[in-house]
This record gives sequence, structure tokens and C-alpha cells, in this order.
Amino acid sequence: MSQPTNQPFVLVVEDQDDLAEALALNLRRDGYRAEVARDGLHALYAVGQREPDLIILDLGLPRVDGMTVLQRIRADGVQCPVLVLTARGAAQDRVDGLHAGADDYVIKPFYTLELLARVKALLRRAATRSRSATSGTETSTAYSDDALATRFGLTAQQARVARLLAEGLSNPEIAAALDISRFTARNHAREVLAKIGVPARARVAAVLRAALESQRGTRE
Ligand code: CA
Repeated sequence: MSQPTNQPFVLVVEDQDDLAEALALNLRRDGYRAEVARDGLHALYAVGQREPDLIILDLGLPRVDGMTVLQRIRADGVQCPVLVLTARGAAQDRVDGLHAGADDYVIKPFYTLELLARVKALLRRAATRSRSATSGTETSTAYSDDALATRFGLTAQQARVARLLAEGLSNPEIAAALDISRFTARNHAREVLAKIGVPARARVAAVLRAALESQRGTRE
């Protein structure tokens, strides 16, 4: 049962069994680790357990609909690419989905090969993004935890979380780094975003960098 962990993990959220299984099979054939969630609640649980590298998300789902799933995971700071699947081709759905944080959109029925190509492209883009996020970390680590705490009214632990957020770590990675539960990591991450006043964790590094620069400016 154990699989190499370097396989990208793709979560397929789809309530239509045959389609979900076919997608998972094709993804596994292409070298991904694929899991299926058949309703929105299951999807939220699965994402909380382990953040996927990519989510394929149907919008029409039982229990919690796809749009709500998307909004909740983005509010929780999950940054992985989300490819929305929907039978509804209405322009409004597309706009709503992109506003809620979808990265791409495929309307059913679709060609499996096209979907797989999009998955690959999204993962490639995400990898490039995370590399550039990591290369921008020198300045945030130069900012001491004390200075961060004072500047933004953070607790000592939140200051550590802020630094890790700026380095591009996910909630599970922060939990592991600080030896705290994922639940606690997620709550700290939320608090940090609220206190430094940014809507998304991707913005944390820029805010810390700006704060550092202004701190330097006042010293000189
Ligand atoms: Ca459906």
C-alpha cells in the first residue's frame, strides 16, 4: 500500500462514481497519487488531513456544494491549484468560481486528455510559484520574532507562524515545524493574516518585507 511520497497528490471531488473512478484511474496511470471524495464534507475532511497538490472539484456535490468547499479551503489558507469541473456552463458559475479562488475551469463533458494536460500545466505553474516564493525569504527571516510581534501585535508563537507563512509553508508543514496540531496551526495562520491585514497567505512575505524595509528606513 505504501507509495512514494514524491508523487503529486491529486484529490478528485466528484459524486458521479463512474466519472470519479475513471479520473482517478487516469491520474494514477499518469503517475499521480489520486484519491476520491464523493461529497463536499468528505472533501473538506480530506483536505484537512493532508493538503493536496491539486484539487479537481465538481461544483454540484451532495452535503456541501463545490463553491462552498472552494471558499472554505481558500479561507483556510489552502493554496493548491483548484480545477473546477461543472456541467453548468453558465458564465456566472465560471465568474463565481474564479472569484472564489479556482485556477482553471473545465465544463462537462470533457476530454480526459485535455483535463490531464490542464492538471499538468497547473502543477507546473504552482511549482514555479512556490520556487519564487522560497527565493524571497531572506528578508523575512532577517526580521526578528520580537520585532514582528511588536509591529503587528502578534504573540511569540504567531510571530513564528508569520515567518513560516512568509516562507511559503502550508498549515501541515507549520504544524510539523512548530510541533503543534494542524488545528492549532490553522488557527494561528488565520490570526496572523487578520493581524497583519492580508486576505491571503501568499501576501504575507510581501507585507513582512515592506515592514522590514520601513524599519530599516527609520533607523538610518
Ligand atoms: Ca456532481
